Amino acid sequence: MTSPFPMRFDIFTLFPEVFQPYLVVSILARARRQGAVEVQVHNIRDWTTDRHHVVDDEPYGGGGGMVMKPEPIFAAVEGVLGRPPRAPVILLTPQGRPFTQAVARELARLPHIALLCGRYEGVDERVRQHLVTDEISIGDYVLTGGELAALVVLDAVTRLLPGVLGDPDAPAKDSHAAGLLEHPHYTRPPVFRGWEVPEVLRSGDHGRIARWRREQSLRRTWERRPDLLAQADLTPEERALIARWQTKER
Ligand code: SAM
Repeated sequence: MTSPFPMRFDIFTLFPEVFQPYLVVSILARARRQGAVEVQVHNIRDWTTDRHHVVDDEPYGGGGGMVMKPEPIFAAVEGVLGRPPRAPVILLTPQGRPFTQAVARELARLPHIALLCGRYEGVDERVRQHLVTDEISIGDYVLTGGELAALVVLDAVTRLLPGVLGDPDAPAKDSHAAGLLEHPHYTRPPVFRGWEVPEVLRSGDHGRIARWRREQSLRRTWERRPDLLAQADLTPEERALIARWQTKER
């Protein structure tokens, strides 16, 4: 069931047009229609007061690149959210804490968050020190701006809101929900170019299917992301199975 109050996202950016195409398709469009999520995108430039609407300036100390000025950012965030802001203000930055499914779950419990997108060399440090309450990175690489990162956060969090996905159990089955990668999926046709769907999935035996999927999930995680297994909730039998795979490999 959808919550009676939408989770609200206020996004602050210099490029609001980036967001619209993603907001009007698929799950985000449906979540907005259902009232599970409300997304307001604000152009930081609208809060400039000078004739040329300047939002950036050269860095003190020299060096290349431009830095986003503090005044329009403070004015935009406080203009929308009050002073002090009545919602967490999350800066998207490659220097932030890594974004994971656990962080998405944490944010999905909040009624309201603000996402601040940087550009150029990033925001003036005083924004980070005195306005921002959290910093998130979507990975160890550098993007041109925070907009893609904000969309990543918005999408991953929205999927977790009650009533958003058709199958309410889907988020719990997805990769990373319980520290494992998900099992492989197949659909019709049963044979494509001679490649068959595993017999077990066509057997109709739900117990066997569940066991096969669990083992595939373990196997994939062990092969691709063994680092995840240390934190995963595994039975002693599952740990023993992995130990056997390890022995065989040696
Ligand atoms: N000079 C900055 C540094 O080295 O930390 C990088 C600035 S980057 C070119 C411009 C903006 O893109 C950042 O202010 C941030 O908002 C966003 N950005 C880039 N990479 C990101 C990442 N991995 N996660 C989240 N946001 C990112």
